[in-house]
Amino acid sequence: MKKLKGHHTITHHLTDFHYLSPLTHTEPDDAYSISYIAIALRIHPFLWCIERIDPRWMETATKVNGAAKPKTSDKIPVAAHPLAEDPTDIASNIKYHAQYSPHFSPVKFEPEQAYYAAAESVRDRLIQQWNETYLHYHKVDPKQTYYLSMEFLQGRALTNAIGNLDIQDAYSIAINKLGHELEEITEQEKDMALGNGGLGRLASCFLDSMATLNLPAWGYGLRYRYGLFKQRISKAGQEEMAEDWLEKFSPWEVVRHDVVFPVRFFGHVEVLPTGSRKWVGGEVLQALAYDIPIPGYKTKNTNSLRLWEAKASAQDFNLFQFNDGQYQSAAELHARAEQICAVLYPGDATEEGKLLRLKQQFFLCSASLQDIISRFKERKDGTGVREWSEFPTKVAVQLNDTHPTLAIPELMRLLMDEEGLGWDEAWDVTSKTIAYTNHTVLPEALEKWSQVVMSKLLPRHMEIIEEIDRRFIATIKSTRPDLENKISDIRILDHNPNKPVVRMANLCVVSGHTVNGVAQLHSDILKDELFADYVSIWPTKFQNKTNGITPRRWLKFCSPELSLTITKWLKTDKWVTNLDLLVGLREFADNPELQAEWDSAKMANKQRLVQYIKRVTGESIDPNSLFDIQVKRIHEYKRQLLNILGAVYRYKKLKEMSPEERKTTTPRTIMIGGKAFATYTNAKRIVKLVNDVGAVVNTDPEVNEYLKVVFVPNYNVSVAEVLIPGSELSQHISTAGMEASGTSNMKFALNGCLIIGTLDGANVEIREEVGEDNFFLFGATADQVPKLRKDREDGLFKPDPRFEEAKQFIRSKAFGSYDYEPLLDSLEGNSGYGRGDYFLVGHDFPTYIDTQAKVDEAYKDRKRWIKMSILSTAGSGKFSSDRTISQYAKEIWNIEECPVP
Ligand SMILES: *Cc1c(COP(=O)(O)O)cnc(C)c1O
Repeated sequence: MKKLKGHHTITHHLTDFHYLSPLTHTEPDDAYSISYIAIALRIHPFLWCIERIDPRWMETATKVNGAAKPKTSDKIPVAAHPLAEDPTDIASNIKYHAQYSPHFSPVKFEPEQAYYAAAESVRDRLIQQWNETYLHYHKVDPKQTYYLSMEFLQGRALTNAIGNLDIQDAYSIAINKLGHELEEITEQEKDMALGNGGLGRLASCFLDSMATLNLPAWGYGLRYRYGLFKQRISKAGQEEMAEDWLEKFSPWEVVRHDVVFPVRFFGHVEVLPTGSRKWVGGEVLQALAYDIPIPGYKTKNTNSLRLWEAKASAQDFNLFQFNDGQYQSAAELHARAEQICAVLYPGDATEEGKLLRLKQQFFLCSASLQDIISRFKERKDGTGVREWSEFPTKVAVQLNDTHPTLAIPELMRLLMDEEGLGWDEAWDVTSKTIAYTNHTVLPEALEKWSQVVMSKLLPRHMEIIEEIDRRFIATIKSTRPDLENKISDIRILDHNPNKPVVRMANLCVVSGHTVNGVAQLHSDILKDELFADYVSIWPTKFQNKTNGITPRRWLKFCSPELSLTITKWLKTDKWVTNLDLLVGLREFADNPELQAEWDSAKMANKQRLVQYIKRVTGESIDPNSLFDIQVKRIHEYKRQLLNILGAVYRYKKLKEMSPEERKTTTPRTIMIGGKAFATYTNAKRIVKLVNDVGAVVNTDPEVNEYLKVVFVPNYNVSVAEVLIPGSELSQHISTAGMEASGTSNMKFALNGCLIIGTLDGANVEIREEVGEDNFFLFGATADQVPKLRKDREDGLFKPDPRFEEAKQFIRSKAFGSYDYEPLLDSLEGNSGYGRGDYFLVGHDFPTYIDTQAKVDEAYKDRKRWIKMSILSTAGSGKFSSDRTISQYAKEIWNIEECPVP
């Protein structure tokens, strides 16, 4: 077929709207179904293109639209050219979107509209690559990984997409041509905040590395309407508000009305005449796919993050009831569907809350596995039906913590009840497909689900779990009689008569082929303690995969000045995809020229941070003071309380000094940020305390030249992208053995920020890499912690007077009359968890204060500090998520790169 005029516009929309599998509309030829074209034309809001297209298409379009042929106009704009490189063409693409995807009045072209139009023009390009990637994977049929996670903390997408596509300069010029600044319009984007903290951000860094490494690997998650929550700080402390990231729609998601799967809840199990079992009845919701394109850095490969939304179908809308005025009951299932994807981690204090969380988990698992299985069947290369034994050679499923554990019984159910496999065959496939990443050893964070709730919501899955448990016990009894007395600990079901539960981590370890921790120390603790008995059964099942972060978002894009300096001195920008090259900076660490450039790059970042703090808190901070930052979820084990007690102590000492003496100190700005879970009372008290201390210190004319304490509200990825580049010291001070890895420690170290920290999580490896001279270490080690807790219980702990002084100062109401007693009381006494200073703040306080004094001294020597900063960046190569993902690919998933030609 000859190239039709106007076909470009139509294919543009066919591709753009992705209404059907991209496989069906690769090239507009005769095989092109006219109905697809009809869809594309109908959804196009304007009819001007009809003038220029083939009459056959026009006829259809006119029918579909029921509209008359429009008048020809001289001002017909050209369609967008998705692959335009030239700034002028890009500008016209953006204009095209501003005029023809009018989410706002097309008369205005303000920063917000410019953002949406620019985002849509970038999306066109992504979709082009995305379809090519999909087709390529379909043709090659490589083994593919599916990363199942309840959280993805993606942050903003525009800067990242432009950067990964390497079209930054052209876009910058194009936006200028349209009268705006790129930086200003990127600020308009709302964070896609479908995560809580490190675990969710890890998933997002992994997606970036998977695409960059050309790996066939997708993410699966849920499309929460409101994500976690937006944090506001008032006089009362933290307030939570719904985070409305979809308020004005997201240009990055493409709804896939052709990808829908049923997901059942409740019901019962029927035994068929054949003896096989079938889950029937209950209620059935629909899982609708929304795809987010994930571009790799300077590669064509563009992977998917597929997020599920829960819907009820039209049949479930009771028109009879509705017409009878019973509006609520008419749409009851629709309302229940909405609850599923309303928020991340709904409160689980009530039984309803617990049930909702279990529904969310199953919803993710069931929809994702049905999708994976249908893709597996679809990709048979014309040779007929696939063997199920091939499944693990084509599919790897990674469980990001235990939240998606139900993928195990769900895969078993689909294989046995829907596909007709026997138990042994289904078990073989399932256990070769699924691997599990553990993220915590905190006992309260190890998921356990009530057997009663599970049997009610998922009766067939409960049967399957019981059978896995039964078979596991039988194997242990016959092969490992020495473990008989351990069976009650290591089996999956806990039949505690008060509250029988299913232990999800045990189910993962028994069923998965590989279990990994997320830093060396954490993986060692898993093997030596939590999973020690399993190690004796399956010695090779356990691995370490030290976490990583993407150097694109966390250095190149968030700190352009420092990146340019690095590229200049390494004489290459290859470090962006080969972060080990940063060691090359070591030889210049003493070079005064590099030091001067480094200093000025860091200062540019500090200035940006000064402006940000002014904007969001109103506080003026001194760019020449030491910027000391702790940002992460607020949790007692992360010990923000140790930080603020240190600040209180510092304030008290400054007050006691003479003005002359104060002048000899190192001025500091302490910034603390993070969200406290809405029901975690002590964490919220910590937020309040930080704010109260700040209110007093920052308005005290005697000291505020030397100390400021600022609480940075609503910590999220975009806030991190401003804070981290401007940081000089950051605090990673968890009680040793409690932080599995941490990833913000890596982001800070990579940005030339020095760490004050304990030997916990990935701190251990960071210190090894950057050198112990460039790491401010203090505190008890993980192996000392149990004895210290025991001593404490035995009344053997003698508090340092400085610790007593700091607490007493707060008790004296120096920071207001709020009742801090419950918080301070958690540091006293000697009784168990939550009181008796379980997190050993008292034990570590004196060495913390001493080490902070060393930081102050080091900062006075400018040359020494900058050298340490350079060495910190130089030693951060190991912490690229590219390294982590290559290891997962080789050592767990057994997948290979599949670059799009
Ligand atoms: C990296 C990151 C985290 C994880 O921080 P940790 O200090 O490792 O707990 C949490 N939230 C956001 C927004 C992040 O970017």
